[in-house]
Amino acid sequence: AEARRPPHVAMLVTPGMGHLIPLAELAKRLAARHGVTATLITFASTASATQRAFLASLPPAIASLSLPPVDLSDLGPGATIETLMSEECARLVPALTGVLSALRETTRLVAYVADLFGADSFDAAVAAGVPRRYLFHPGNLHGLMIMLHLPELDVSMPGEFRDLAEPVRLPGCVPIPGPDVMSGLQDKSDPCYRWMVHHARLYRESEAILVNSFDAVEPDAARVLTHPVPGRPPVYNIGPLIRADANDEPRAACLDWLDRQPPKSVIFVSFGSGGSLPTEHMRELALGLELTGQRFLWVVRSPSDEGTVNANYYDAESKKDPLAYLPEGFVERTKDVGLLVPSWAPQTEVLAHEATGGFLVHCGWNSVLESLVHGVPMVAWPLFAEQRQNAVMLSEGVRASMRVPATKRKEEIAAAVREVMAGQGKGAEVRAKVAALQKAAKEALLEGGAATTALDEVVRKWTCGEYC
Ligand code: UDP
Repeated sequence: AEARRPPHVAMLVTPGMGHLIPLAELAKRLAARHGVTATLITFASTASATQRAFLASLPPAIASLSLPPVDLSDLGPGATIETLMSEECARLVPALTGVLSALRETTRLVAYVADLFGADSFDAAVAAGVPRRYLFHPGNLHGLMIMLHLPELDVSMPGEFRDLAEPVRLPGCVPIPGPDVMSGLQDKSDPCYRWMVHHARLYRESEAILVNSFDAVEPDAARVLTHPVPGRPPVYNIGPLIRADANDEPRAACLDWLDRQPPKSVIFVSFGSGGSLPTEHMRELALGLELTGQRFLWVVRSPSDEGTVNANYYDAESKKDPLAYLPEGFVERTKDVGLLVPSWAPQTEVLAHEATGGFLVHCGWNSVLESLVHGVPMVAWPLFAEQRQNAVMLSEGVRASMRVPATKRKEEIAAAVREVMAGQGKGAEVRAKVAALQKAAKEALLEGGAATTALDEVVRKWTCGEYC
């Protein structure tokens, strides 16, 4: 009778829509192709309206539950998002043990998957007797490679990444200048850094690592990491897992606006679920867009001044009216070519729309994958987390994006946007590369494609052993 119950997998989703969306997509594919049901376990700290609506829209094979709230007030206001997530996860181990034990009673629980900074929760899975513990890395292979090398780098590198004279060179990876290495590793005296090293060690102890990337976007890193090596967990490149169209009712007004624009005429501007710009950059961006005369759709958030760059991350809704921070007269002057959407837009639908011709993006990995799947060339404007190393890898490695210079002057912004939208100069190369990657992304997910084959193998491991 046991073997006839569908296999079930429990997944821990650390905070952020950028973690929830790909794990939910993984769960959907497991259900559709393999008949595996799933429970998504979320943190109470991220119970935003956006997240609740998303969870409620998932198919019945995917259940969800929220862990109890955790008091993190002792960490103080300076704690980074990585520290907050890591502490929250570690403090939730007892509660999670109870949840997983209960799931073992009611389902045929074959595996536990924790994402990114959730590996401490493997203790809960062990205590609850869950047979397999896998790690889901929602970033790319470049980011994973840094994590896998971090325990050595921590010992061998005396100073800070940002002070390195030479870029960081890792096998199969585009050399990453020290200051562009992920922000959580930039200050060894911050608890965040120690947490990252801690997680990096746990990465190497997981049974296997699932990665949301695909071979064509980082081919050399894929060759290195998908080749099995003793002492390192097997790596499965199972992407691109991107959010399917939500088909929300009523349809968002910005999509109706896009319907009225010519094909490939609009640059979409968005900084992810939590990103916002300092006031000065926000103003330069507005003036830069105005200089191009280009049509634009911009998801605007209140600025991030005074070190609150991550403030929106735990809650996607901006607190103040973001339009109030734009240059005087900007909204009026651009009303015929531009649309400003406060806080949130249906991004995958926007990228899929034929009027969209470019994406000015913060280089959050989900956004990059969505852009590639829909064949939209990018202009990279990274903010924090691993976004800067993504921008380097995209613009200097596979050349799928232009990059806005660090000085962020309006003329520079306008030049990068123009090149991508007109497909001239470097922009022509970017367009051609993105078209090739779009094709490769699609092929990875077909029958016999690399991602499909990798996930088939994972499910075979989960469901064989005890019962066959
Ligand atoms: N997203 C969206 N609308 C928005 C902002 C973000 O639908 O206005 C979605 C986006 O499509 C992506 C995710 O939220 O799936 C953001 O993830 P990403 O890794 O790009 O960035 P993060 O939010 O983690 O910085």
